[in-house]
Amino acid sequence: MTIADSPTQSAKLDSKVPGGPMEDRWTNYKFDLKLVNPANRRKFDVIIVGTGLAGGSAAATLAEMGYNVKAFCIHDSPRRAHSIAAQGGINAAKNYKGDGDSVHRLFYDTVKGGDYRSRESNVHRLAEVSVDIIDQCVAQGVPFAREYGGLLDNRSFGGAQVSRTFYARGQTGQQLLLGAYGAMNRQIHAGKIEMHTRQEMVDLVVVNGVARGIITRNLKTGEYERHSAHTVLMCTGGYGNAFYLSTNAKNSNVTAAWRAHKRGAYFANPCYTQIHPTCIPRSGDYQSKLTLMSESLRNDGRVWVPLTKGDTRKATEIPEAERDYYLERKYPSFGNLVPRDVASRNAKTVCDEGRGVGPTGEAVYLDFADAIKRDGRSTIEARYGNLFEMYERITGDNPYEMPMRIYPAVHYTMGGLWVDYNLESTIPGLFVLGEANFSDHGANRLGASALMQGLADGYFVIPATIASHLAGRKLEEVTKDHPAFKEAEASARKRADDLMAIKGTRSVESMHRELGNLVWNYCGMERTAEGLKEGKRKIADLRSQFWTDVRVIGDQNTINQDLEKAGRVADFMEFAEVMMHDALVRDESCGGHFRAEHQTEEGEAKRDDEHFSHVTAWEFNGPDAVPTEHREQLTFEEVKLTTRSYK
Ligand SMILES: Cc1cc2nc3c(=O)[nH]c(=O)nc-3n(C[C@H](O)[C@H](O)[C@H](O)COP(=O)(O)OP(=O)(O)OC[C@H]3O[C@@H](n4cnc5c(N)ncnc54)[C@H](O)[C@@H]3O)c2cc1C
Repeated sequence: MTIADSPTQSAKLDSKVPGGPMEDRWTNYKFDLKLVNPANRRKFDVIIVGTGLAGGSAAATLAEMGYNVKAFCIHDSPRRAHSIAAQGGINAAKNYKGDGDSVHRLFYDTVKGGDYRSRESNVHRLAEVSVDIIDQCVAQGVPFAREYGGLLDNRSFGGAQVSRTFYARGQTGQQLLLGAYGAMNRQIHAGKIEMHTRQEMVDLVVVNGVARGIITRNLKTGEYERHSAHTVLMCTGGYGNAFYLSTNAKNSNVTAAWRAHKRGAYFANPCYTQIHPTCIPRSGDYQSKLTLMSESLRNDGRVWVPLTKGDTRKATEIPEAERDYYLERKYPSFGNLVPRDVASRNAKTVCDEGRGVGPTGEAVYLDFADAIKRDGRSTIEARYGNLFEMYERITGDNPYEMPMRIYPAVHYTMGGLWVDYNLESTIPGLFVLGEANFSDHGANRLGASALMQGLADGYFVIPATIASHLAGRKLEEVTKDHPAFKEAEASARKRADDLMAIKGTRSVESMHRELGNLVWNYCGMERTAEGLKEGKRKIADLRSQFWTDVRVIGDQNTINQDLEKAGRVADFMEFAEVMMHDALVRDESCGGHFRAEHQTEEGEAKRDDEHFSHVTAWEFNGPDAVPTEHREQLTFEEVKLTTRSYK
């Protein structure tokens, strides 16, 4: 049977996964890849959209190699990318603790953690290069925490029984980003990176089927610009803000990915959203942001709720015998360090039972009393001081004396643009890196593995695989006067004109909030077929209301944050319908995608490997049309498909 004949494998989705022994695949593949010789690299222009950890690391490395890089971000500096918010750490299979870690174990944990919905070959490569990332970052001067003996320290994250997470207090993302930013700056100074800040990619330019440029809107002047290149790398982060309330930076959005999708890049697994178990609970209807309390806290914090419903005593007044440390009770092997999807669902269950704490009843305790008694306050302060301080500033409670109150919140998106082993999308010449691609995490990302993936993509994978396009295809000369640039610019301008012309009655913010509520209620921690159908209908109505009744204030030809936001919310509206559709079509539970109809007697996610062991990638057919479904069948050669158990 050929690929095209196969009932589950779309011929459009050739993953290009190499054969041979798993541990040799990446090495052999790199050897077989074409090369661009050093003298020829300066003939190639590379556009990189997004300069968080994925884009920043790619820009620095490709420029260092000799390519001409043009980098873009919506922020006023690469240093302000959402990556800077990452707190807890980055995984690597260094086995510094000598506790049995290995490349194979990291690979295995990640495939299992993702509930067997990721590509084995990609995950193995990720585990392999994880060790190089740490060396690279140390060489850049990233101040990872060290032990007394001088070795880099490690802690544990969910879904692992070893300590493999490297960290810089609770500011790992910031320190890693400073490393990438320093490396970028060297190349900006050398003239190899042209850095364009406060520029928003508003369209992708595809010439004869190949990505050859972008249209940007200058966010300071409102002017539209055309930029051409031999290839485009999209590193624009995740779409968690479709839910309005999330732990993501307020500026995180789906716009660049969505507009590339409309030009032909397939969107994979949009229903896989990660709900992080340890966030500060929402406190009211007018909140605009949620705050993460790093997963690292679960190394020492114990999660519990009162044994009985409606217990309103202060946490410190509830005796041990009347507490339910439900994660330790249900999952004795992994305890408080079960993966995020499992911890989140359990928090929801105990709150739904009426055992939640705090004013809304939507919270559980994360308690450090035992750890402080065991290790002393100063040790706990050295590990988590800045997180405790942040918690106290937001809630007014002192976590050294009173347990933190936490509740799950939208945090990370495993779905994204579909990419093959080269990180190339279904549009030749368009590569997608970091959280923006559907990546290596399957249906649930394990903690500390997003930074690993973003930096693997940028420092190690794309520098090799980009040659598959640049040396492997004949690329014609394309100038910015090409009709494809004119058409893309005109359509971007028209979209903004249309938004300005509506002059309705509702603010962009209020419509985003309403959208977020719908997505959370119908496609949040628990989904049902009925709810998803209703949610889809309601989102379609809201979208048509948006295009008739939104009011965008200000002027197009200048700085206008309302217009910027309106464009992004309009994209979230279209995207959210596909997300719901994907969640409806995936008629199983897996990882972060929990369909209430499919659960075990104990309330765990019940996969359907026979029918859903595939990646679903959607092809855009217009905002009002049902997208076309494509499938990439997943095969498992190394890891045996079993029911995930953390007991
Ligand atoms: C609070 C928090 C803590 C976290 N902690 C951890 C952790 O400890 N460990 C871990 O592994 N992961 C963690 N994560 C996840 C991790 O931080 C992200 O997945 C990762 O940083 C994403 O990096 P990125 O480079 O893909 O995207 P981002 O850092 O989001 O960068 C996106 C870039 O794209 C640009 N951009 C966006 N749209 C456009 C556009 N249209 N035009 C031009 N530019 C655009 C932005 O300006 C930015 O430069 C955390 C996430 C959160 C929310």
